[in-house]
Amino acid sequence: MDQPATPNSFRTGPDEQGMFGIFGGRFVAETLMPLILDLERHWNEVKNDPDFRAELTDLSTHYAGRPSKLYFAEGLTKHLGGAKVYFKREDLNHTGSHKINNCLGQILLAKRMGKKRIIAETGAGQHGVASATVAARFGYPCVVYMGATDVARQSPNVFRMKLLGAEVRPVTAGHGTLKDAMNEALRDWVTNVDDTYYLIGTAAGPHPYPELVRDFQSVIGTEARAQILEREGRLPDTIIAAVGGGSNAIGLFHPFLDDKDVRIIGIEAGGRGLDGIEHCASMNAGSPGVLHGNRTYLLQNADGQIMDGHSISAGLDYPGVGPEHSWLRDTGRVEYVPILDDEALEAFKLTTRVEGIIPALESAHAIAHAVQIVPAMDKDQIVIVNLSGRGDKDVHTVASMLGMEI
Ligand SMILES: *Cc1c(COP(=O)(O)O)cnc(C)c1O
Repeated sequence: MDQPATPNSFRTGPDEQGMFGIFGGRFVAETLMPLILDLERHWNEVKNDPDFRAELTDLSTHYAGRPSKLYFAEGLTKHLGGAKVYFKREDLNHTGSHKINNCLGQILLAKRMGKKRIIAETGAGQHGVASATVAARFGYPCVVYMGATDVARQSPNVFRMKLLGAEVRPVTAGHGTLKDAMNEALRDWVTNVDDTYYLIGTAAGPHPYPELVRDFQSVIGTEARAQILEREGRLPDTIIAAVGGGSNAIGLFHPFLDDKDVRIIGIEAGGRGLDGIEHCASMNAGSPGVLHGNRTYLLQNADGQIMDGHSISAGLDYPGVGPEHSWLRDTGRVEYVPILDDEALEAFKLTTRVEGIIPALESAHAIAHAVQIVPAMDKDQIVIVNLSGRGDKDVHTVASMLGMEI
């Protein structure tokens, strides 16, 4: 079963100030501070409250479909001819990815706080859809901030959000992408202090968001750990997940951090290569700075201007990363490796053909790394890949990459 954190554990952070070593914290305007402190107080109240946990478990089970399966990917294993590959099937969740885990946790927290208006930011629209979904379920109005560029290129998700009753507000500041949408959501929050809850989409932002998002996503790793022990009678040799802001990855990794024999690998978007600017590998090619209220690795130019980055997969092109990953990188506990657009696309096609599973392009990055390392591993070794989401949303992108029209 899941292990408690021990002294010298990798599972004890963040500290009282919200720091993971030199990363994290809350670098926010003074006007935002009372809201953050109020959120922290309520979070500390509910995080070990059995009633809160019971309500979350009930929704996770009957609404989202948890526990998600741990699937032995026999076709891929045979194809690669090395270690056994397992997929943690977050793609089978309601709304098609791990994002619902976090949204259910946070909407229950909002309810506890008596907040009745939900705001969220979204890039590709996946978190916007998951937020609009839980807001519909609880009958709360929901405003989703989305960069104007993203609104134009993600119209099916914009339509989904509207069907679910959310208002989508296009943000034209900056380049009209995710980081601009996040800034706008933070601005909305300070101007609507009384009734509004900011439902953040990944394990980033000011403390306590990285901690609470990790907590809600850790159900992935807690389940996977128990499932592999049940199935194989031992822990995996390697676990792999894709890192955008880092929520599905920290969710899988956290329960394994103190299992020192388990190798842990996070995959960043290598885009078209790390030598140019067309990637989103903040930990492999960025430097520490402050973005969205926390100190972390990010993509910035010599003047400290945040850069936009690029990935074939919209969910991976966040120019920062959750602060806990920055800390895990510097401590050496977790390795972070870039995967290129083309490698992810190959893994997408391979998985579709040999498993009959169309993975999200984000998840295909994690699979692509398994494709690289599994053949050289022994047949009795075990690799778990987090299948963070399903790829239905990506078929248009893939078609155009392949030069086809749908
Ligand atoms: C949003 C998303 C990601 C990236 O976000 P994280 O916070 O890094 O998990 C990865 N996979 C899928 C399917 C997503 O929708």
